[in-house]
Amino acid sequence: MRVQRAVLVTRQSLSVTALIHILDTRHLGHSGIVAATALETKDGIALFDTGPESTFENVIADLQKAGFDAKDVRHVFLSHIHFDHAGAAWRFAAPARNGGIGAKIYVHPRGAAHLIDPTKLVESATRIFGDDMERLWGTIGPVPKERVRILEDNETVRVPPFEVRAVATPGHASHHHVYHWDDNVFGGDVAGVRIGNGPPIPPFVPPELHVESWLESIHKIRALNAASLYLPHFGKITGPVSDHLDRLEERVVKWSEWFRDRIQSGANEEQLRSDFAALEHSEIDAVTSLVTDHESLVTLYEAADPSYMAAGASIRYWKKYHPQEVS
Ligand SMILES: [Zn+2]
Repeated sequence: MRVQRAVLVTRQSLSVTALIHILDTRHLGHSGIVAATALETKDGIALFDTGPESTFENVIADLQKAGFDAKDVRHVFLSHIHFDHAGAAWRFAAPARNGGIGAKIYVHPRGAAHLIDPTKLVESATRIFGDDMERLWGTIGPVPKERVRILEDNETVRVPPFEVRAVATPGHASHHHVYHWDDNVFGGDVAGVRIGNGPPIPPFVPPELHVESWLESIHKIRALNAASLYLPHFGKITGPVSDHLDRLEERVVKWSEWFRDRIQSGANEEQLRSDFAALEHSEIDAVTSLVTDHESLVTLYEAADPSYMAAGASIRYWKKYHPQEVS
C-alpha cells in the first residue's frame, strides 16, 4: 500500500511537470524575456498570459513544437491587461465561426472593460510609449464581450483535472491576479521579474504602483505554499519559491525607500531615471553578468522591464499616497 502510494505521487509530480510548457514570445528578438505559459488539460490548453500581439505567431509556433495547435487553446487566464501580458488576448478570443480560436478570457473585474474596449488603455500606453506602440506591441484589438469572464478574488474555474484559483494581488497593477492550481502558481508581474540566473526584481510601472499592496500580495503568494512558481518574465523559477519571494520583498522595500529619499531631497525625474538605472544594473551585475546567448543580463532585464518607468511610477506613488514624506 505504502509503496503504491509512493509510485503514484512520483507519477503525479512527473506528469505535472510535463503538462506545462513555457512558450517564448521572443519579443523584439530577445529569447527568455516574455513568456506565455501553457498548461495541458482535458479541456484543451489553458494559457496564462498571451504575450503581446506582435509575437502571436511565435507563441503559436512554440505551441506547435509542443504538439498542439492554436485551436487547442480554450482558456486564457490573464494576470493583468498590460500589453506584454494580454496584447494577444483578442487574437485568441476571436470567434471560432470566423476562423478564429474562440478561447475564453479570464480577467480581474477592473480589467474586463479595457479588454472589451481598449481605447483608454491605448491612450494611456501611448503617453508612455509614443510612436513606439506598434513596434512594441503590434495591433491592439477588442476582445468580444461574450468571450470575457470576470474572476473575483478567490474564484475558481474547473479546467479538468485542475481547479484554477484567481488570487487578487495588486501592487504592480490594481487589477492583477495570480493563479493557483495544485502545487503551482502563475505569478504575473507582482511575483517579480527574474531573467536567466539573475535576481528577482519588482517591476515598478505607472500608473498603479502601490507598495503596501505589493507587500500584502507577496504575503498572499507565500501563503499558497506552492512548490513551483511560473513568471511571465521568465519561466519557472529555480530554487525555493520562498527564497525568491523573500528577495523580491526586500527589493520592493529597498527600492521604494531609495526613491522616497531621493524625491525628498529634490531629485527630478531625469536624475532619478539615470541614478535608478545605475542602481538596478549594479544589483543585476552583482549576481552574474552573462547568460547563454552572451547578451548581457542587464540588456535582457531592460527589455523585459525598462528601468526608466520606475522613476515616474515612484514619483506618482509617493506624491499621491505619502505626500508628507517627500515634501
Ligand atoms: Zn510585464
